Amino acid sequence: DNQGPPNFIKTIIEEDFKADRHGGRVVTRFPPEPNGYLHIGHAKSICLNFGLARIFGGQCNLRFDDTNPTKEETAYVEAIKTDVRWLGFDWPGEAHFTSDYFEQLYNLALRLIKDGKAYVDSLSADEIREHRGTLTEPGRESPFRNRSVEENVTLFRQMRDGAFADGQHVLRAKIDMAHPNLLMRDPTLYRIRKAAHHRTGDTWCIYPMYDFAHCLSDAIECVTHSICTLEFENNRALYDWILDQLDLPCRPRQYEFARLNLNFTVLSKRKLIQLVEEGHVSGWDDPRLPTLSGLRRRGCPPAAIRNFCDRIGVAKANSVVDIALLEHAIREDLNPVAPRMMGVLRPLKVVIENHPADQVEMLTAINNPEDPAAGTREVPFSREIYIEQDDFMEDPPKKFFRLAPGREVRLRYAYFITCKEVVKDPATGKIVELRCTYDPATRGGDAPDGRKVKATLHWVSAAHAAPAEVRLYDRLFSKPDPDEKVEGRTFKDFLNPESLEILPDCRLEPALAHAVPDTVYQFERLGYFCLDSRETAGTRLVFNRTVTLKDTWAR
Ligand code: ATP
Ligand code: MG
Ligand code: MG
Repeated sequence: DNQGPPNFIKTIIEEDFKADRHGGRVVTRFPPEPNGYLHIGHAKSICLNFGLARIFGGQCNLRFDDTNPTKEETAYVEAIKTDVRWLGFDWPGEAHFTSDYFEQLYNLALRLIKDGKAYVDSLSADEIREHRGTLTEPGRESPFRNRSVEENVTLFRQMRDGAFADGQHVLRAKIDMAHPNLLMRDPTLYRIRKAAHHRTGDTWCIYPMYDFAHCLSDAIECVTHSICTLEFENNRALYDWILDQLDLPCRPRQYEFARLNLNFTVLSKRKLIQLVEEGHVSGWDDPRLPTLSGLRRRGCPPAAIRNFCDRIGVAKANSVVDIALLEHAIREDLNPVAPRMMGVLRPLKVVIENHPADQVEMLTAINNPEDPAAGTREVPFSREIYIEQDDFMEDPPKKFFRLAPGREVRLRYAYFITCKEVVKDPATGKIVELRCTYDPATRGGDAPDGRKVKATLHWVSAAHAAPAEVRLYDRLFSKPDPDEKVEGRTFKDFLNPESLEILPDCRLEPALAHAVPDTVYQFERLGYFCLDSRETAGTRLVFNRTVTLKDTWAR
């Protein structure tokens, strides 16, 4: 079975097994907040958490961390489930929600209050911040810190009952206002938020904070290894403190790993949502976005993402991964399986003057040179064909070996042709047609006299080709680190204006009229392409370029 590469978390789990910690079980969880779509950064966490459960025969829960009613929506819940399954993972039973535990969490908070370990504070948010102190200065205690247990219980119940306005009170842990870790200076555990929740509606008007809800949800689910990104390193002390006070039957442990950063893109839902809502992209599934739905629509196979995650590994130090590595993983996955096709993106008509006008020949093309079992197909050839505009130059420079006046080239799977004449639009001077001849003896692509040509072009038969729109994508940002702080600018100022190029008048090999949405094709010489799942309606064909053929990833 595929164990994947080693990493420090696997080592920890193996040691836990040896020391017989956690009763020999492995339970992980993937805990997205349903406030946006998943991106490839989340994929790293999904592959890690579900992968560990798979390798060690344990389980990985899907838990929606839904403690922030104003940002969360059921539509996001559904999209996240779809994306996790698409990536190739599934969770045992139903998905979990932190909101399922609101009553339990409330009762655990009451227990802390009754044990003298939490209090209701009536300072404002600003005052609480001022009292917190700094790294070099201790904080100051709130004047409300020494309320009696009875008063705290009453106030907390009233908070729950809706007696107060947002921000009037909070529940805080009573730890140490001089603690060197600022997060331990009496952190907020509950706040009042009079907003409808996507699942609990108006049942609650107090909501637990992440640090309180997360460790306890882990404990309720008997999670053994709670894996999160490095930003939460300082939160671990609080995670442990809360669990230590409450001494529940299951005792999870938190471990941190480095989040995925990719160049030329942003991996933050807060930023992605701005691109979506402000119309910089067409939606969460815009093929330029690093979202899983965008990558799917672009034609990226889920296995390529899993392999990419294996390759980048799991480390304890942050770094930036080159997006070329993802593209490399996509090519590596597609190359052995993608059916080859011919498609002309910017058509230039070629009339083969010595080919009979009424004759259509069927020529044999290889479906995939990487896979002999994929067999062959027939491609029609006729007097009028299209080639790419940039495969012809009237005045070619030295290194241009493709078609030019008087020059002979090969048409893939067909014949040698020679350019005899260039036809231009008299008004614009633009080249509109080439008059060529073909050598019938070169059928299949070789000359019996052994003469060589320096280029092989793809082509389609004009009368048989399927018209299509093709969308080419480039990096979403023109700067490697769009998040870098630049005076007076935001990441949105670095969007690449050329990230989408629409080619409205492409001509594709006729078989592509029956393309299927889940197949990614290699258009010879041009890259990998798939049918756009959203735009293709009726007879209109729209293809997305998944990735080019050229591999810039240096191994
Ligand atoms: P974002 O900043 O994109 O909103 P988040 O961490 O707030 O991300 P969550 O929905 O809370 O989003 O994330 C769910 C899980 O995915 C968390 O455990 C989080 O650590 C992990 N995760 C999020 N982004 C990345 C990333 N770039 N690399 C690795 N793991 C990530
Ligand atoms: Mg989060
Ligand atoms: Mg975030």
